Amino acid sequence: MATLRVEIVTAERTVLETEADMVIAPGAEGQLGILPRHAPLITALAPGAIRLKHGAAEEETIVVSGGFLEVRNNRVIILADAAERDDEIDIARAEEAVTLARERIQSRASAVDLERAVQSLHRAQVRVKVARRRRTAGAPPVSRGG
Ligand code: ATP
Repeated sequence: MATLRVEIVTAERTVLETEADMVIAPGAEGQLGILPRHAPLITALAPGAIRLKHGAAEEETIVVSGGFLEVRNNRVIILADAAERDDEIDIARAEEAVTLARERIQSRASAVDLERAVQSLHRAQVRVKVARRRRTAGAPPVSRGG
C-alpha cells in the first residue's frame, strides 16, 4: 500500500522525516486530511497540531506555529515557523507562556501587543494540550541530557 513521505522542517532544523499512512494538519482554512495519492496542494498552516497516523493505532503529534504545507507525489513537506515533536515540548515553559500571555491580555495592551499576546496564548495552549495528552497517554518523561 502507498504511504506518504513526510518532512517537517524549520529554518533551523529538520524536525521529522518519516513515512505515514495519513497526515492531519491545521490548514489556514480548516483541518486537512491527507492520504496517499492526494492531489497536489500548497496551503498555509494555522498554529496547531499535526497528527501523523501509522496504521490504525499508532499516532505521533507535532506542534507547529504556522507555516506552509505542500503535497506532491505522495510527499508532504511542511515548512514551519517553529515546530516541536510532542516529546520535545517543555510543558513548564509552555505553561509560563500561557500565564504571561494571559497577563498581557488582561493588562489591555495596545492593539498590536494584544494581537501578539493572543497569538502567543494560542501557541502556548496548543503546546500544553499536546504535551499533557502525551503525558496522560503514559509516555515516559523526556530525558534531557546535560
Ligand atoms: P516562549 O514564549 O516560551 O518563547 P514562543 O511561542 O514565543 O514561546 P516560538 O517563537 O514559537 O516561541 O518558538 C521559538 C523557539 O522555541 C522554537 O524553536 C520553538 O520550537 C521553541 N519552543 C517554544 N516553546 C517551546 C516549548 N514549550 N517547548 C519546547 N520548545 C519550545
